[in-house]
Amino acid sequence: MIPYLGSHVPMAAPLFYEGTARTALSWGEDAFMFYTGAPQNTRRRPLEELRIPEGRAILKERGLDEGKILVHAPYLINLANLGNKETRGFSLRALKDEMRRTKAFGLSLLVFHPGASLSFPREEAMKAVSSALDEALSEVEGVWILLEAMAGKGTELGSSFEEISMMIEGCSRKERVGVCLDTCHVHDAGYSLDDADALLKEFDRVLGLGRLRAVHLNDSKNPRGARKDRHENIGMGAIGLDRLFRLASHPLLRDVPKILETPYVGEKAPYKKEIAMLRQGIFEEGWRESL
Ligand code: FE
Ligand code: FE
Ligand code: ZN
Repeated sequence: MIPYLGSHVPMAAPLFYEGTARTALSWGEDAFMFYTGAPQNTRRRPLEELRIPEGRAILKERGLDEGKILVHAPYLINLANLGNKETRGFSLRALKDEMRRTKAFGLSLLVFHPGASLSFPREEAMKAVSSALDEALSEVEGVWILLEAMAGKGTELGSSFEEISMMIEGCSRKERVGVCLDTCHVHDAGYSLDDADALLKEFDRVLGLGRLRAVHLNDSKNPRGARKDRHENIGMGAIGLDRLFRLASHPLLRDVPKILETPYVGEKAPYKKEIAMLRQGIFEEGWRESL
């Protein structure tokens, strides 16, 4: 049994958050993650249109703990862009805005990609991230920012626990900074998932397990160390169901929300099936064909 297991869930017209909540429950989820608008841009509908009270009422009725629900920030925020003041200003505003929106849903966890250093020295870029995080955290109370561990594609920051630690330690408001461990990303960055104990021990050594506030549970299309970031369905990639199961069912991750971001199979969301397989720890041959 794996507690607090769910997936990315869409939020779409006409039911918006009410639909998100209903969908998550229908897929057998007791944790989930969503974007408050399109992940690729920062255009956002007014909160009043999103049926937030209706969604929250359903979650309450079904006993789903809002502490296990995550919001994911839009992708194009890059606080590390030192070359362009406008872009940095835009990114910082977008982050603060998303923190406020997270609160408006009654939630407190916002997952965030640390950004990319582009043509700038990595250390300076990471310092820029820390100071921007400080500004956002001091302006908006009550929300945690979870820095996601990245695959290391291009100049992505946060592709090692050490780099994430540097960005956190550079913050003076680090009591509200956590980490989201994405299994595809850390595998692509070179970490082994063969031994869940060893991986968590290493995380604890560098970052402290208290910072581990979310897991993204994804298989990977590529071999370990490929630095690619292409997610694969559970059991269909280089990591495999057994390793993902052993990590997700690890007692140290009991209270941590574990969220699938695996690809759709054609038009079909795979999550209900993937969650069922993970809960049992048993891979079913040919499951994608029979969706
Ligand atoms: Fe992410
Ligand atoms: Fe992720
Ligand atoms: Zn990814």
